[in-house]
Amino acid sequence: MKNFRISISAFAAVLLAVSAFAQEFSTVRFSKDFPGANIGKIEAVAGSETTFRAEMVAQHDELDLNRQATWFAFDLEPRGGTREIHVVFWNFDGCYNGRPTRPSWKGALPVFSTDEGRNWTHFPRELCVWNEDDRTMTLTVRFPEGVNSLRVAYTAMYTNREICALADSVKDSPRVRQETLGAGQTLFTVTDFTVPEAEKRRFFIMARQHAWEAHTSWQTDGLIRWLAGQKGIFDDAPVTPEELCRKCVFYIVPIVDPLGAEKGWVRFNFLGYDVNRRWNEVDLNSEESRKTRPECWFVKKKILELNAEKPLTLVVNLHGDTATDYIDACGPEALHDAFREFENRMIETNHYDPPASRRVHIILTPDGPEPPTTFALWWDQRIPTIMMEEKVSENHRLGRFRTASDSQKRGVWLGINLEKTFDQ
Ligand SMILES: [Zn+2]
Repeated sequence: MKNFRISISAFAAVLLAVSAFAQEFSTVRFSKDFPGANIGKIEAVAGSETTFRAEMVAQHDELDLNRQATWFAFDLEPRGGTREIHVVFWNFDGCYNGRPTRPSWKGALPVFSTDEGRNWTHFPRELCVWNEDDRTMTLTVRFPEGVNSLRVAYTAMYTNREICALADSVKDSPRVRQETLGAGQTLFTVTDFTVPEAEKRRFFIMARQHAWEAHTSWQTDGLIRWLAGQKGIFDDAPVTPEELCRKCVFYIVPIVDPLGAEKGWVRFNFLGYDVNRRWNEVDLNSEESRKTRPECWFVKKKILELNAEKPLTLVVNLHGDTATDYIDACGPEALHDAFREFENRMIETNHYDPPASRRVHIILTPDGPEPPTTFALWWDQRIPTIMMEEKVSENHRLGRFRTASDSQKRGVWLGINLEKTFDQ
């Protein structure tokens, strides 16, 4: 993209160049020329060379009843020996079902990377300051010695680049098969293929119906790698991947909305549909459904096909929350104790961190109206389903914010605890 020059102002912090992908100032260059990047307009604050206002990009749904600005990711390149800048993020206010909402910012701590997003570190907490008065978040960025490019993001990124790396790293495993679903999603089927299907339980696990929830893709990434036998994810796990793969088949989609993840969107698809709010409406016989809500349509089709071959034990729908870890579950009464048991296991074995007041919520059916979320699978098809939320705010049990490798390990625990709990 060709940059074009605009007039040079009297201020020291001048805007030198701007393009769709980059904005250049005398002290720093902002750019978003990589998958998953997103940030709105950047403006130098008058009178300062090193303070910038950055507009959060709010995505809205097709009816404009929901609006959310959560995600950002961009690169910073210091200019002229700059060591520190301040970025004031604004435009957090949102709308949920027509009602104004509090900024979705609170609670999270952004991350940075000096190697184009391969490794991420949280910013020190004192460098990220929320201002309730003007509803802005000020991030102080200090450039480490010798670093000439810093990637900054809401949380550790996971896009198609990471899917490709994952796919490549497990391609020789006899326990992994890969296929691409119609909206570009990669489905990993992981099991011991020498054991007859009839002897195995079947779990379908999906993440990233909502594009901002990158941390949930890391859970599926960790589980797939570990099941494939990779070292370094969870080497001292209490069971072996071989054992788990003999007992179960895991069908795993790490990114349900790959376009959203690539574009740095928040939670709506390319037409503004909330991917996790249309499961009841998405009709597999409808061309209109397939064209307007392909993320859901193709995953739902796969789930129903698998379920028709042999009933799925459970569908696990992973989501991200700004503040709370929690589980909602839907299924036959015979499974209600198992849902509680599963949650207890998650609490006992890893850093799953729900508040005492928010233990597993079992949605009772079928008297109420059909839910628009993935729980419609239970209403329509009698497929037991859970939704598990992972927060981006501080994990009290770890005493810190979770890293991508924490999420990977949690993904392994998810697999282990599913097998231990759901035995049909
Ligand atoms: Zn979500």
